[in-house]
Amino acid sequence: MGPPGSGKGTQGVLVAQAQAVPHISSGAVLRAGASGEVLAQMAAGELIGDDLIAGLMWTRLRDADAARGFVLDGFPRDVEQAGALDAFLQERGEGLDAVVLLEAPRDDLLARMLARAEVEQRPDDNPTTIARRLDVYESETEPLVALYDRRGLLRRVDGAGDPAQIAARLDAALRSGGQAAAPR
Ligand code: AMP
Repeated sequence: MGPPGSGKGTQGVLVAQAQAVPHISSGAVLRAGASGEVLAQMAAGELIGDDLIAGLMWTRLRDADAARGFVLDGFPRDVEQAGALDAFLQERGEGLDAVVLLEAPRDDLLARMLARAEVEQRPDDNPTTIARRLDVYESETEPLVALYDRRGLLRRVDGAGDPAQIAARLDAALRSGGQAAAPR
């Protein structure tokens, strides 16, 4: 997890490659299949409904390639989704190994998203929507930091610098481990 522009996508792909598991991005799942109202909500920087995104994620997580693990990117995004993920994993006798938090100053996030806008042409990488997405992150997603910290799952990683530097820090943070507590 991490605010928009923190490098979740880039780093998520690298971790998934290193672990030989799929990288499952809720934003990418939506961009591939969403239409109408959902696309409008995404373009406005709003979260789409919990039930809709959860349904899409469960479908993806049941694919054979996710049977021995996965890297989630962008999901869960609020407390409700985190609870739903716990229930989904518990039912399968699975659980999260770690939750990585990529941290970066707001100015860096803004700069990265504006740079990405030029390359990827994402409709939600414009100044108004970027500001809204950062606010939504703070109000909806940031509460998950405390939740996963209490469980001993959280690994804070400095998201400043180039992707290779960040990847090295992330790798070290995952290796250093930590005792994970049960969901509550
Ligand atoms: P991302 O690619 O993770 O930045 O997501 C792009 C957009 O997709 C977000 O701004 C939301 O509109 C939507 N989205 C992605 N993941 C979720 C989620 N877990 N819950 C609700 N909306 C999501």
